[in-house]
Amino acid sequence: MTRPQQLSPAQFADRMLAAGQRRGYLVYEPSTRALCGSHSLFQELADWLLDEVPDFQAHEAMFFEVGPESGLLMTAFVHDTNRGQAQGGLRRWAYTDMESVLKDGLRLSAGMTRKNALAGLWWGGGKGIIAQDESSSELAPEARAVAYREYGSFVSSLRGCYLTAEDVGTRPGDIAEIFRSTRFVTCIAPEAGGSGNPSSMTAAGTVCAMEAALDFMQLGSIAGKTIALQGTGNVGSAMIPLMLERGAERIIAADISSERRTALLDTYAGEPLEVRSSRPGDLDLLAEPCDILAPAALGGVLNPKTIPQIQAKLVCGPANNQLLDAGRDGAALEKRGITFVPDFVCNRMGIVYCCNEQYGYVNGDPMIDRHFDRAWSGGIFKTTRRVLELARASDCSAVDAAHHLADELAKRTHPIWGHRARKIIESLVVDRWERGKVR
Ligand code: NAD
Repeated sequence: MTRPQQLSPAQFADRMLAAGQRRGYLVYEPSTRALCGSHSLFQELADWLLDEVPDFQAHEAMFFEVGPESGLLMTAFVHDTNRGQAQGGLRRWAYTDMESVLKDGLRLSAGMTRKNALAGLWWGGGKGIIAQDESSSELAPEARAVAYREYGSFVSSLRGCYLTAEDVGTRPGDIAEIFRSTRFVTCIAPEAGGSGNPSSMTAAGTVCAMEAALDFMQLGSIAGKTIALQGTGNVGSAMIPLMLERGAERIIAADISSERRTALLDTYAGEPLEVRSSRPGDLDLLAEPCDILAPAALGGVLNPKTIPQIQAKLVCGPANNQLLDAGRDGAALEKRGITFVPDFVCNRMGIVYCCNEQYGYVNGDPMIDRHFDRAWSGGIFKTTRRVLELARASDCSAVDAAHHLADELAKRTHPIWGHRARKIIESLVVDRWERGKVR
């Protein structure tokens, strides 16, 4: 029989239902270092993750549910909740097999732990994925609304150990659907008391990190620089005006979406912006002669194939998990003398902007604005410099330096709530969450 990790998401959902399991989980027990599955199907995945997948980093739990009406595979990855509830956006994406779903979820949720810790937030790291098959067509509007409402109910069933938000494939309208069925979601619409789409903040944070890195490299400012921007979605498109305002000499932007390309050409006619067409998986832009390369599409783009081709002196972009293999590819960039700002150092503002919605809003919110303050030791500018300085002083890659700083901070337990989300997970296990009534 095909091993579960080799099944496509839809085949895995079918296998779950055939086994009478609409829900399933994997929960890690640190004292025994055991990863326990709720059913033999999940135990098979657990054994494989423990034995063969380095991306499994003692993640506290992973939850799976087949949407009752949509039939889609919904997942929540909870990495580390020492600093608070696991917080991280919901990705809806097409995957070849469960191996790629699991690896993506494991890496993204661990990245959120580091991002939140380094930003000084009292949140743990998590990530949600609605996994579709590569052959599946885009959901019709009503089916899409159903899927996101189901995801909200799934999150509610997890009792707050994971809070969801926006990520690739999930738009503000989808968040509104999630909010109909759970309170454990951020990035909700301002009309409903939320902070809305965080992408322009993420863009501003990334540009701030770029400036810090240029300062560290003694290369001045963005003025006069050529920037290659891969992906002009929510974040990439919001970076363009910021870089133009700062006097960028030329921006070469690529996207697979003709709609986005046309919108850019209309908006920036007469500006030094060149818009190129791209295909899914196309990485040609990474080899472009430029000063700064900004990956703003998907992860895994910095790898043994692309790194030798890179001509930029600095790589700094918002896409999560740009290094295919953090250790190997971080060292390869270092060896080539390319300064790299790890994504979780520069793209924190999306989560900073939305994660404290329940505390309300004030004008010129200092809890948000201070992240842009060049003088604040916890801000993006100084944090970026600290990472690059540590890498230089320790003769290690920037990603290793950033991991070191973030992992130390991630060990601190929430000053009021302690390790409460871990207790929520234990309660879910005791209460047989996997057998719970699914609405
Ligand atoms: P998005 O889906 O709005 O934009 C991604 C864009 O990349 C799309 O326009 C897509 O067509 C394009 N793309 C995909 N493959 C491409 C390729 N091979 N070449 C060129 N373009 C390609 O997503 P987003 O919200 O802009 O996020 C971008 C990245 O930043 C993601 O990795 C996301 O996880 C990360 N991120 C986003 C936020 C946020 O606030 N939105 C916060 C932190 C991190």
